[in-house]
Amino acid sequence: MLQEVDVGPRSFDDYRAIIGEAAVEEIRALADPLRGLRILQINATPYGGGVSELLRSIVPLERSLGLVVDWQIITGDDAFFSVTKAIHNGLQGASVPLTHDQRQQYLATSQTNARQLEGAYDVVVVHDPQPAALLSLHGKGETRWIWRCHIDTGSPHRDTWEFLRPFLATYDAAVFTMPDFVPKDLPIERRAIISPAIDPLSPKNMPIDDAFVSAVLGWLGLDLSVPLVTQVSRFDPWKDPLGVIAAYRLAREAVPSLQLALVGSMALDDPEGWDVYHQIESASREDPFIHVFTNLTGVGNLEVNAFQRRSAVVVQKSVREGFGLVISEALWKGTAVVAGRAGGIPLQMAGTGGFLVDTVEDCATRLVELLRDRELAQKMGDSGREHVRRHFLLPRLIADELRLLGAVMGNRPPAMRAWEHDVSVGLRDVVCGMPLHRTDESPTVEHDGVTYVFCSPSCRRRFLRNTALYADALTRH
Ligand code: UDP
Repeated sequence: MLQEVDVGPRSFDDYRAIIGEAAVEEIRALADPLRGLRILQINATPYGGGVSELLRSIVPLERSLGLVVDWQIITGDDAFFSVTKAIHNGLQGASVPLTHDQRQQYLATSQTNARQLEGAYDVVVVHDPQPAALLSLHGKGETRWIWRCHIDTGSPHRDTWEFLRPFLATYDAAVFTMPDFVPKDLPIERRAIISPAIDPLSPKNMPIDDAFVSAVLGWLGLDLSVPLVTQVSRFDPWKDPLGVIAAYRLAREAVPSLQLALVGSMALDDPEGWDVYHQIESASREDPFIHVFTNLTGVGNLEVNAFQRRSAVVVQKSVREGFGLVISEALWKGTAVVAGRAGGIPLQMAGTGGFLVDTVEDCATRLVELLRDRELAQKMGDSGREHVRRHFLLPRLIADELRLLGAVMGNRPPAMRAWEHDVSVGLRDVVCGMPLHRTDESPTVEHDGVTYVFCSPSCRRRFLRNTALYADALTRH
């Protein structure tokens, strides 16, 4: 089996206070016809970067709406993830032709992962290029497959695109963040445009008070009496951290007390991170007012929350971007943003939350403007928050995804539902959906008068961890 990612239970009802009763009911109505639908989400890392951030919230919330959703990740060594990062870069337009060996590496690791793909699902959602070959190597069966592309593939490098394109040919649907990201000769007919969103109730975005923010940042060694500018992002050349340092240096000439925090995460699937980290280290070594933090030194979701709240301005100087969740995260906290005009960033700023910039000089000028004019920064932060509230909160994303799932399933009944754990229709494992032959050794669990039988101890464990979800899906029908 592919490696499973554990997420805690959540309730969709908690969003009533944020989006209102009517919106919650509307989303429940979209979910109702899909109850019991088995969905597998596959990506390449359980932490670090926007995709894992999204899945961590989407999976438990879709479960709370009655869908049976699993999240699994592919695995691979550094060599594989160097190839997938080269593919990622090539899809975003970098000229990085793949060698013969790199292509073989991608295929071999994809093949290993495809062999580990188990279970009977109605829909498999594959995120980004890393696991994209799974479908053609595993085979489609009765399942509907969706390719969810989070990056800007609008003008991919020809060579990279021609390598990846055949693996996409049999997907039932593709999802992109913006219309401009759809490659011209995409071999998938059904396309949806769905922009990502942030979870206002996750530890990264939930309300925390000023005293807590001060305690967290003071603990990390920041001087809370002087202005702070922060960029939060993977250590990736496209996020231009060296450009941020250059802009900060220029801004500091006008605001001499300024300090900069670069908060970066190391994702499992991004070996380039360390190179960029070392470049940042050598560019900032001499400057005591530049602070560099990573998830490996304990800067997690709550700390990021504190940085985004306390910063006088959040900067995101991306030169190429997928969506850039960090923009909505900062705006939701009422913090003004200075950001590169790239990918989904302008969509989130929409002329309200701060300034879009194209150069280091531009970036420095706008930083200084907002550092000096706090009233303007406040106004921009407030209107940015309102824009995010209307367009980029998770319930809207869940509604879009439910509509897509409905469209992809059409009128066809789901291939397999959890309730088929009924001997009259053939015994199945309620967790993975596999047909079963019960023997004396079969793992079982007694729950509410029903004997649940499993194909393996690992499915039994998953059932015990999430009994309500699976038992509910079984008894609902
Ligand atoms: N992030 C984090 N810690 C870090 C750096 C980034 O938690 O040190 C999170 C950030 O808050 C955001 C996500 O990683 O939720 C990055 O998503 P985004 O869409 O901005 O960029 P991506 O990494 O997907 O290119």
